Amino acid sequence: MTERLNLKDHDREQLRAALAERGVESYRGDQVFRWVWRRGVESVAEMTNLSKALRERLASETRLPRLEPSDQRRAADGTTKLLVGLEDGREVESVLIPDGERRTLCVSTQVGCAMGCTFCRTATMGLTRNLSPWEITEQVLIAERILTARGDTRTITMGRGKGGQVQRRLTNLVFMGMGEPLHNLEGTVTACRILTDPEGLAFPERRITVSTVGLADRIAPFLERTNVNLAVSLNAPDDEVRSRIMPVNKKFDMDALLAVVRELPLSGRRRVTFEYVLLAGENDSERQARELARRLSGVAEKVKINLIPYNPHEGAPFARPSDEAVERFRRLLLERGVEKVMVRRPRGDRILAACGQLALSSQSSASQSSGSQSSGKDRSGS
Ligand code: SAH
Repeated sequence: MTERLNLKDHDREQLRAALAERGVESYRGDQVFRWVWRRGVESVAEMTNLSKALRERLASETRLPRLEPSDQRRAADGTTKLLVGLEDGREVESVLIPDGERRTLCVSTQVGCAMGCTFCRTATMGLTRNLSPWEITEQVLIAERILTARGDTRTITMGRGKGGQVQRRLTNLVFMGMGEPLHNLEGTVTACRILTDPEGLAFPERRITVSTVGLADRIAPFLERTNVNLAVSLNAPDDEVRSRIMPVNKKFDMDALLAVVRELPLSGRRRVTFEYVLLAGENDSERQARELARRLSGVAEKVKINLIPYNPHEGAPFARPSDEAVERFRRLLLERGVEKVMVRRPRGDRILAACGQLALSSQSSASQSSGSQSSGKDRSGS
């Protein structure tokens, strides 16, 4: 028996092709895509502009699965950590971050991660597998259902062109959860294409940010296929420190990474975000701030810096710098010509909002009921 076609796991072009292989005219593919993403139907039977014969065929040859949260924890500031249960029993996390008018969702792209950054908790899990596109987009649908259920029914209007307007509950998406998005290139591209298709979920590209550890050879090919915002986790002022905390730097060093960013054809006022996790005594000194500013001089007008005070978790030999050290680092960058420097505010205290923390604590409580919960200060973004 051939596997049923998952109607949620393809961008519009791919869906047309997959249905064409089954002898369905290509405009039908567009219709099905709109039913799935614009109308959010849960069965083929609801696709009333298709003939009865076609509906019956699709009902037996395709599927329209749906994922549910297996756990959710909400902090006092409204930040909500979601665990999403996958069909194979594994779990990934998403973090919903309400902030004024904004409703940002941080999504995962892999179960675990292979990149091995020494300060990151997800890294301790290793990589289990990539998420398929629909396992990424389901995180968005789940979060919107949760907002609706909470009575947080504020919407913003998105969509244009043939797809027409649509009201969305989430305003921004960041790919900063578990996993390395560009290590799951196909899954991330297809998910972004569904999310930004005017006939799909209709998020404007500029409301989506994909964060990479710095897989330099994949950045330009990625942005050619979906023109979302890019963030790069720099995290160090020089190759020595960066190689020590991010093994990927041995493959793509800072020169390679900065060269790629320099060449990116950024339109309008768009900038690449460089994330910089501040680790006390490791990468937060005055000398390192000056060194970082110097390194960025060739790309200064194309980038902004996002300083992220380290979010402590058990087992990693790092500490969060004081607020004064963070502020000093920020000021030095500004004084030395880096025009845009932001500091990420800690969010979601006490709900384990650091990368990978919720998924890990659920695993350990399932396997050994240890329930070890290193809380600490948490941050937004993932
Ligand atoms: N793999 C991608 C996206 C996931 S990590 C990437 O590396 O960018 C998202 C961001 O969280 C990255 O900037 C990463 O450096 C940062 N991060 C990971 N662990 C952290 C921690 N414990 N405290 C603060 N930031 C952390």
